[in-house]
Amino acid sequence: MAVIYDVIVAGGGPAGVAAAMAAARSGAKTLLIEANGSLGGTVTNGSLPAFCPFGNTDEPLIRGIGLELLEALRAETKLPAYYADSPEKPLYNWFPVDGEALKRILDEKVLSSGCELLLHAHLVDCETEEGVIRSVTVHTPGGMETFAAKVFIDCTGDGVLSAEAGCEIQMGNEEGLVQSGTLCFKIAPFDTERFIRYAEETGEGGNLLHACTRAMADGAFPAGETKVAGISFPYPGAAVLNFGHIYGIDPLNAASLTRAEVEGRKMLPELLRFLQNYVPGAEKAVIVSSGPAVGTRESRRVMGDYVLTKEDFFRRADFDDAIAYYCYPIDIHALRPGEQTKEWNELYYNRRYQPGEAYGIPYRCLTPKGIKNLLTAGKIISCDPIMLGSVRVVPCCFATGQASGTAAAMAVRSDSSVRSVDPKVLRDSLKRAGCFL
Ligand SMILES: Cc1cc2nc3c(=O)[nH]c(=O)nc-3n(C[C@H](O)[C@H](O)[C@H](O)COP(=O)(O)OP(=O)(O)OC[C@H]3O[C@@H](n4cnc5c(N)ncnc54)[C@H](O)[C@@H]3O)c2cc1C
Repeated sequence: MAVIYDVIVAGGGPAGVAAAMAAARSGAKTLLIEANGSLGGTVTNGSLPAFCPFGNTDEPLIRGIGLELLEALRAETKLPAYYADSPEKPLYNWFPVDGEALKRILDEKVLSSGCELLLHAHLVDCETEEGVIRSVTVHTPGGMETFAAKVFIDCTGDGVLSAEAGCEIQMGNEEGLVQSGTLCFKIAPFDTERFIRYAEETGEGGNLLHACTRAMADGAFPAGETKVAGISFPYPGAAVLNFGHIYGIDPLNAASLTRAEVEGRKMLPELLRFLQNYVPGAEKAVIVSSGPAVGTRESRRVMGDYVLTKEDFFRRADFDDAIAYYCYPIDIHALRPGEQTKEWNELYYNRRYQPGEAYGIPYRCLTPKGIKNLLTAGKIISCDPIMLGSVRVVPCCFATGQASGTAAAMAVRSDSSVRSVDPKVLRDSLKRAGCFL
């Protein structure tokens, strides 16, 4: 065990890259461990069409590293004219993601922060002693390697490190069911200009509501689908779709994920037929790529010193130790076929915040109970399954990632538990780094 790091971050999705960059920029010797061959997590490995909004006014709530990455992506992205003139213009609103550009940006940002990066490295185990994680074991193509650190951050999206360390875990609803997953995909050629004209004439938006409604009336909407599609155009001539639900996935079970991948690919021709027939611009499109991996919206949640709940969402909760503010509505995808219930639609459409409203996320949601040197960030933070519907989206993961990385570096500096980080000092540090608090 040659090097002892200050901070090891497991998982290089939105939360992990922000955590690693924040820890390294705060002066901590940081290692980021990622199982895939590129950074970005579900965004790049799951072909996500878009970042969710960074706020609900012209002033974004998610700033700091999240905004820095959004601006870097904007600078590299050649968006079709649609976005320049559309009321949906993606400044801090939905922003189309060119996954290849994002991969390069994340490589550059993470490495230039001073963080060491290990791709193709799958964390499989950890050694824990009296509530302190001493080291993690990583499976690489060449075999097992062990890395030690003073503080660890779990950003695996599945709570792998937290589960290995014995933290209290919750998953799914009272029956253990999680939200459905989706195999996102890209189609081309796509006549973006034709779509723009259609959008102008009909008011069609990025959720293809008009096209879906017409297909439903014709009985031609893909079987089993109850929710509208998400479409984006990160570059002219192609479109990316978040469309098609796969139910009953256990995100921790390889056999279940295998079934989901197979099912997801099998449904693509039917989804394409709907697009060709109902979405002007898609008539000649073929499926260019999918995934590469099926996206799972929900997995382990790691119980921390505070559990953020739907009641907190409803009361626009604020906390003395808030490390971020966010406002995205509770967005739950059906757990079973045909169950895009009134309740979920009510939450998404009718309980959304007015411009300027926000909820706070306490630092205590990032500190798993029972372990002194572990933090979490991203979609696994301590919340209930309803609140997960809001905190799981990318901008919020950037924010919790930056907070955990900054806090980890502070704990290293003071040689103390993550629990003794002073939230006021943490908030001041995040503010200095450009975060909105
Ligand atoms: C189908 C789908 C559509 C979505 N649409 C949107 C959208 O339009 N806009 C939006 O903002 N959000 C969207 N989301 C939500 C968002 O993509 C995720 O919630 C977000 O990416 C979570 O970020 P994260 O960093 O917590 O985890 P992830 O993105 O899951 O990243 C976790 C990373 O950890 C790595 N990892 C896992 N286990 C290990 C291990 N043992 N060792 C090493 N590395 C490991 C993974 O390879 C991955 O890179 C969508 C999600 C899904 C599934």
